[in-house]
Amino acid sequence: MNTRRAREALEEVWMKNTGDLFARARKVMPGGVSSPVRAFRAVRGDPRFVARGSGALVTDTEGRTYVDFVGSWGPLILGHAHPAVVEAVARAARDGLSFGATCAAEIELAEAALARFPFCDQLRFVSTGTEAVMSAVRLARGATGRSRLVKFEGCYHGHSDGLLVKGGSGLATFGTPSSAGVPPEVTALTEVLPLDDEAAARELFARKGAEIAAVVIEPLPANAGLLVQRRELLQTLRELTHEHGALLIFDEVISGFRVAPGGMSEISGIRPDIVTLGKILGGGMPVGAYLAREELMRHVAPLGPVYQAGTLSGNPLAMAAGLATLRELERPGAYARLEELGERFERGIRLAFERAGVPGCVSRVGSVLGLWLEPAPAPRAYHRIDPRGAERYAELHPLLLQHGIWLAPSYYEVAFVSTAHETSHLEQAAAALQASLQALGEARPA
Ligand code: PMP
Repeated sequence: MNTRRAREALEEVWMKNTGDLFARARKVMPGGVSSPVRAFRAVRGDPRFVARGSGALVTDTEGRTYVDFVGSWGPLILGHAHPAVVEAVARAARDGLSFGATCAAEIELAEAALARFPFCDQLRFVSTGTEAVMSAVRLARGATGRSRLVKFEGCYHGHSDGLLVKGGSGLATFGTPSSAGVPPEVTALTEVLPLDDEAAARELFARKGAEIAAVVIEPLPANAGLLVQRRELLQTLRELTHEHGALLIFDEVISGFRVAPGGMSEISGIRPDIVTLGKILGGGMPVGAYLAREELMRHVAPLGPVYQAGTLSGNPLAMAAGLATLRELERPGAYARLEELGERFERGIRLAFERAGVPGCVSRVGSVLGLWLEPAPAPRAYHRIDPRGAERYAELHPLLLQHGIWLAPSYYEVAFVSTAHETSHLEQAAAALQASLQALGEARPA
């Protein structure tokens, strides 16, 4: 068989496999996926099945390779299958996968994480970001003896009942469940505030300050595009919570170790009472954590009455992956490189919009980017996002995939650059974006 025939035969097998995979996946998993955004419904596509990843690239089961800007939704700041991380996991695995007892790697990763959030004394490991925030809220309620929780519209904190809440736009609203199966009685304890609006926060505290256990916010909201906040908002929340005896929770599941070693807490210089971490902390393995001062953490079982536990919490493989990742990030120049790549990508995207003659803008902090299909300035609050952008994104996304560029299959997700990205990857992405925007413009009737 000549090489071409061999390749075609191989591609045929891949095609068949993928067809089979989707059919099989749909049969055994709702939508064929283990988490809804992976289904590509927001961009009216079918899920891709990934065979392997290496550095900045992923290869699907059809043998097509893409430059990846999803990075497993944030954890892979070093790119896919970084040798140091893979080696650390393999080494740990040889000594056992899980013990249900404390291992030395847990202590090491705890020390490494706390060193980056020096205003916290202790942490508790969990396995997901969802658990981290859910447990942080329980701790806040247990420690303050209050019930009410404040969150922000457009911020995502995992899928625990009380946080799966949407609000109306404008001033503070009662949370209504954003999922079936969440009783309104549960979300009635959650107040929803608009981002970028200190006055709304002041007004809520003036009315209900004494009932509020905690305010939880993504200090860099990155779950409705990238809604970069002014420092004044975070500062106001710090002051209001202090004044009214409530606690401030920074959900740094995305921003922690990403925008700086100490996340947005470091960048803003504002010290929350509780920090939640996930994603990079596990280097691609399932890890979350919540961190606080000792006098707060002593409320957590076994020392105190706030119950929280986990069979696989702190398991040695996940700890090894997290530690290896943080060690790599300690190398001189790691964050400077992320900033440089992020800045370069931002410039490339802006230029692509300009050259294609399509209105668009970018928000960015370090290696996290929000791509907006609407004219500048980039929105800072959920209700200011033009929903028509999501429609355009659904048309754009499959074209980018055809060009070998894998952005998140949802307009409301951000793009991540890793230390494994190279300038050429960013140039390829910017060129693909320009070509795709142009193709869309030409396809649209005048
Ligand atoms: N908090 C934030 C800020 C997140 O972005 C996410 C997930 N994207 C979570 C919490 C929940 O984390 P997990 O998916 O690991 O449960």
